[in-house]
Amino acid sequence: MFDFLQYKGVLVLGFAVALLIAERLFPMARPLVATHLTDMAAMVWRMAKNLSLAGLNGVLSWLIVVPVSAAAAGYALDWRPDWWTGSHGLVIDILILDCWIYWWHRANHEVQFLWRFHEVHHLDEFLDVTSALRFHAGEVFLSSLVRASVIYVLDMPLTSIIVFETVVLFGAIFHHSNLKLPPALEQVLSMIIVTPSIHWVHHHAIRQDTDSNYATFLSVWDRLFGSRSATRRWADMPIGVEKRRDEGLPGLLIRPFRPRKR
Ligand SMILES: [Zn+2]
Repeated sequence: MFDFLQYKGVLVLGFAVALLIAERLFPMARPLVATHLTDMAAMVWRMAKNLSLAGLNGVLSWLIVVPVSAAAAGYALDWRPDWWTGSHGLVIDILILDCWIYWWHRANHEVQFLWRFHEVHHLDEFLDVTSALRFHAGEVFLSSLVRASVIYVLDMPLTSIIVFETVVLFGAIFHHSNLKLPPALEQVLSMIIVTPSIHWVHHHAIRQDTDSNYATFLSVWDRLFGSRSATRRWADMPIGVEKRRDEGLPGLLIRPFRPRKR
């Protein structure tokens, strides 16, 4: 299992670096045009901020998230039937977890307390591979607790969690990227998985679109639960949170705990 964890890290890093290069060679949106990010230094600073949050989350994962998930799997209710094991059991688990993450993501938008943390992800004013890793540690922590309860109740093996986490990471890196795909390919892919054209609309700085397109891996959930936006992504679509601006790293870390006017 820990061999797989090491391979997972190498695979995800390799995929992220490959897409980082690809999105700069074949960009959909021009990052330094028509936004207030007017120079290269600002873009590098933004990426460094996203990667700093990702680094913090990496430490948090090893200290808390992985042990909590392992404990939940180890002490899970022991009721899983034989037909729900093996490779088809893994496929069922991934479908369940993908549906669960859809509803968890939706709750992060609809429950004010959760939005305080998730907003940090949405305040990014441009999207690329680094955006996929930009989350407040509080959201990562809360997510791990809720996921642990799913693991515990459904008696989910740790293998399913690790495979699902890998799929989610690959998917998130892909759908946050600024990679311009051939339109026909993107259209076919978007019928099955969440593509940049779907997820960039979720980051459109118009609240109605922000509160749509919640799916992470399979795109079917938004169609099934009526949350698919009709907006089509365009190259210079404003990204961020409506009427809000991004902040520096310390500001982002304390932002969820600041008192707010209603
Ligand atoms: Zn969101």
